[in-house]
Amino acid sequence: MKEIRKFDFTSILGWSISRYDTFQSCKRKYYYTYYAKYDSSLPRQKIDELKKMTSIPLEIGNIVHKTIEVFLKRLLKSEDEIDRKRFLDYVHRKTINLCNTKVFAEVYYNEIPKINIDEVFDKVKNCLNNFLNSERFIWVTKETVSNKENWLIEPDGYGETRIDKMKAYCKVDFLFPVDNKLFILDWKTGKPHEEKHRKQLIGYSTWASFHFSKDLTDIVSIIAYLQPTYSEIEIIVNEFDVQEFSLQIKKETEEMYLFCHNIEENIPKDKEEFTKTNNQNICNYCNFREFCK
Ligand code: SF4
Repeated sequence: MKEIRKFDFTSILGWSISRYDTFQSCKRKYYYTYYAKYDSSLPRQKIDELKKMTSIPLEIGNIVHKTIEVFLKRLLKSEDEIDRKRFLDYVHRKTINLCNTKVFAEVYYNEIPKINIDEVFDKVKNCLNNFLNSERFIWVTKETVSNKENWLIEPDGYGETRIDKMKAYCKVDFLFPVDNKLFILDWKTGKPHEEKHRKQLIGYSTWASFHFSKDLTDIVSIIAYLQPTYSEIEIIVNEFDVQEFSLQIKKETEEMYLFCHNIEENIPKDKEEFTKTNNQNICNYCNFREFCK
């Protein structure tokens, strides 16, 4: 497998699905998330603390990702069958450790007195069992393991790429070749969101095509939903999908540029330009809600 291409650092903002999601949901939240260092009215440390807070659904996703990464990296070293009980004991310890060392928004904002670690672990375990029992995983271990030196598991960095010369980030979980094709697998522990996730899959195919000089039609991108039961979305795109995707990324990037005082240096306009949303449902789950009371 060729190396992932590297880029010289530039300050200009790069599109990502999560950046644009935050931008769309609330401009003030977007400001706290991406431009905290320009806020002179609030202590930087406080903004960073709130930004770093996790939530129960986020942490379930985080633990599942981390443990699948460990599981796959173990397969790189040995194809011996994994002792599931010992693996789940390890996951249980990891869950306790992560839940005890992180600040959860639900606790910070007094929605619940403390995290029920057993409930978190049950959900993590359900996701992992669904993954390990899935036909996809059985296929991966049987059909692709002979080429495992070319697996790419949670590659370093943020998945920087270029889409029609624009900076963008599309970070894949797991990429592996089978025959002449490249497969990308991305697991989700949240609810299916077909439109958003299809967009993400096109981003992955574009990323892989750019970095590995692969024809788009030889790239299979898959999102695996791990709960309540295992299901997938799988797509193979061509240049027309990518053309449409590029236009969309361009439009969304330009919308975000409008909030920059200096686009090249990614310096934001005044905080007041970043208005607060009126949608209380978004505020109810926002880490920064204490700033907006
Ligand atoms: S609490 Fe609401 S208005 Fe304030 S930053 Fe968060 S989402 Fe925006």
